[in-house]
Amino acid sequence: MLIKTTIEGVGEKSIELKEIPSTPKLKVHFQRHPDYKGEYGFDWFRDYYETKLADQSKLQALKDEYTPCQILGEDYFVPWLTLMPNAAADLILKVELDEAVKIKKKESGKIILPKNCALAFSPAEIEISALRDKQEFEVNVSCRGILAADAKLDVTIDTDNQVVGKLNVLKNSVVPKINLRFVKVVVYPGQKYLKENELVNGAFVDKEYDSEEAYLDNVLTNHDVPNFIKTRAFNQALIDVDIDPGNYVIELDGTTLANEGKIRGYEISDNLFAKGLHKDLLAKYQNVYENTSGSKNQQGGKSLIVFYSALQRVAMSGTVGGESSLLDVGSRSCLIYAAGLDAPSTYVHELGHVMGCLHSFVDSAAVNSIEEGIKAKEEFMNRCFSAIEHNKKQLAIVSSGTNPLKTQKVIESIEKLNSQIADSIGAISCYSHKIAGNAMAFDNFKTSSNFMDYTAGGGIDFFKWQWATMQNAILGY
Ligand SMILES: [Zn+2]
Repeated sequence: MLIKTTIEGVGEKSIELKEIPSTPKLKVHFQRHPDYKGEYGFDWFRDYYETKLADQSKLQALKDEYTPCQILGEDYFVPWLTLMPNAAADLILKVELDEAVKIKKKESGKIILPKNCALAFSPAEIEISALRDKQEFEVNVSCRGILAADAKLDVTIDTDNQVVGKLNVLKNSVVPKINLRFVKVVVYPGQKYLKENELVNGAFVDKEYDSEEAYLDNVLTNHDVPNFIKTRAFNQALIDVDIDPGNYVIELDGTTLANEGKIRGYEISDNLFAKGLHKDLLAKYQNVYENTSGSKNQQGGKSLIVFYSALQRVAMSGTVGGESSLLDVGSRSCLIYAAGLDAPSTYVHELGHVMGCLHSFVDSAAVNSIEEGIKAKEEFMNRCFSAIEHNKKQLAIVSSGTNPLKTQKVIESIEKLNSQIADSIGAISCYSHKIAGNAMAFDNFKTSSNFMDYTAGGGIDFFKWQWATMQNAILGY
């Protein structure tokens, strides 16, 4: 190395310095393992964020989700990992090496993986000389017990302690539990069910089931739906899904529905019937299962319901896989149609909606209807307040009279109005959380890996803010 220096009073001269061995400049990035199947949560600053974020005024807030910093003078966004207590994840540590850097055979120095009392990294270090052969390393991270606070971890180089990479691990001391019930919606009770194009031993065949119920039971197990929901989807958001083993069935009268022109075979042919179906099912379910003692769930009512049926719904946009209500937050349920039955990600998508997630792509219609929902609830509350004022005046009049029944009636009316106001406040808070918890929307319809997109083949992950949105929704139940 030749350094030219000017020393005052001495004049210009050149000093030849000996090469000082220094650590090669490098950066490391944690990534998901290529075999990743959703076993843990992992979210990072995606390549498309800067170009596809619909509302560019939110770009800084989006960057801030990934605790930005500088490494080697460049912006570095830190990925987030979630692990259930005592769970482990296989990650990849990718080393980004400057093209010009040549690693010597006997290169000294090690990449030191993070150390944390609740998290173990294996391997704990990587010899820099190993970079001669490869730049990607499998790293196992395991959580020993519970992580009480978010861990902001550094990867360093032992020779000079420089930070070359980072990883954030979300605390897992709060793991909300949810009880999930699958409710079979049988259209033609007592009849056999023919499933066309069923994949059996690698070939598509028409398969006859003894009943629709048998088919609906089979489709869940055949496609590993409950397990997918529990271990490859909501686990990412640190939500513990308890699958209710009970047998829940709602029977429709398909023959009558067909005679009334509401369905043709299994296809819904009446739009009004389709629109009211989810609500009808919920009412039927509540009538059969919630009015009977002993069937209420043990978790204090934190139950989510998946209605699923061989009914087919075709809308303007195409065949519908499933649906859930944006505004009826109390319904805590979704409905899966035939087209979505054998795709576990359909269930996750709809349950994601139930837990407060909107679409990951720009969906102005949904946002507008929620904003209108807030307005409608506010107007309704104002009418309730006026009615209470009116009732209070009435109360003053009737209570001085001789008929105690009249007084009682007015008091009851006020109580009812107050409870309606409380419900409205609850709904408004829920709607507002939905808007706030889904602030980031992207212009990448059908192309992301997010569960809340419409990508063919279904999603595999959630964003970090969706983890929080869903956790908060459940904790608020
Ligand atoms: Zn959707």
